[in-house]
Amino acid sequence: MKIITLGTGSGKPTLRRNVSAVALVREGEWLLFDCGEGTQLQIMRAGLAPSKLAAIFITHLHGDHFNGLAGLLSTMGLDGRDRNLTLVGPPGIRQYLDTLAGLKILNVSFPLQVCEFASFAFRPKPGEATVSDSLAKVARVVYESEKYFVEAMPLLHRIFTLGYRVQEKPRPGRFNVDKARSLGIPEGPLYGRLQSGHSVQLSDGRVIHPSDVLGPPRPGKAVAYCTDTRPCDSASWLSRDADLLIHEATFTEDLASEAYDYGHSTARQAASIARDSNVRRLLITHFSPRYSDASALLDEARAIFPETVLAEDLLELEV
Ligand SMILES: [Zn+2]
Ligand SMILES: [Zn+2]
Repeated sequence: MKIITLGTGSGKPTLRRNVSAVALVREGEWLLFDCGEGTQLQIMRAGLAPSKLAAIFITHLHGDHFNGLAGLLSTMGLDGRDRNLTLVGPPGIRQYLDTLAGLKILNVSFPLQVCEFASFAFRPKPGEATVSDSLAKVARVVYESEKYFVEAMPLLHRIFTLGYRVQEKPRPGRFNVDKARSLGIPEGPLYGRLQSGHSVQLSDGRVIHPSDVLGPPRPGKAVAYCTDTRPCDSASWLSRDADLLIHEATFTEDLASEAYDYGHSTARQAASIARDSNVRRLLITHFSPRYSDASALLDEARAIFPETVLAEDLLELEV
């Protein structure tokens, strides 16, 4: 998996930073998280093919996270897209697109599946063992493919906002060639069948099971995307043991009360979530335009969580 940050600023675009959008690229297709204004230009600059975009996930209906959506959908229509596209987002996103379509402003000419995550207030029920037990019941799988799935859960912002987690399914264990040879399995197609999880029968009648020649299943990787939000239990749950947490860090800690009032996090708070959720790496993003130099945000986060990376537009990060 690879992450490409398409926009890393909050509120409005600047010459240095476009507004929120992140691409997650894996095996011939990619996913888009948020689609601020100008995202389609950033997609071109990143060398991503819109025809290979499988799904879009919008966090919330603040302009800096979705104002590029209608333009991107129009362009994909002009380009003759016929592949299905899934769009996941908060309630209201369907009405927004329907209104544009009703006014003949937008004409989506390819199959678009819109999935709205129903709004609700989260409260742990009395008697439940931990907060995370309650949260696990709130999370919804909003997108699934053969090799991974995406979960969503409400964050804590000024309006209804969704956080996301991309979780790869476990991969089969490594194929032990020495073991296969010692069992007398002839090299060739039988290796492939075992590797893909099927038992095979040899010419002498013996049946070989995948577990005879494969190591233990290898866990899939996980990436969490949490913006915009105050530090919250949902962000911790979504990012548990993740290989990468992408978390907003709109302000430095000296502006913690502003961050709270506007439903945002400081760099220090983002780093605390990363540390407490046992993530491997943290990517901080969504910086206030007041920081022409974002190094103070990075220093602040690294003091708490050293494995922090500062997002820049068009940064590529292997996961
Ligand atoms: Zn924002
Ligand atoms: Zn917002």
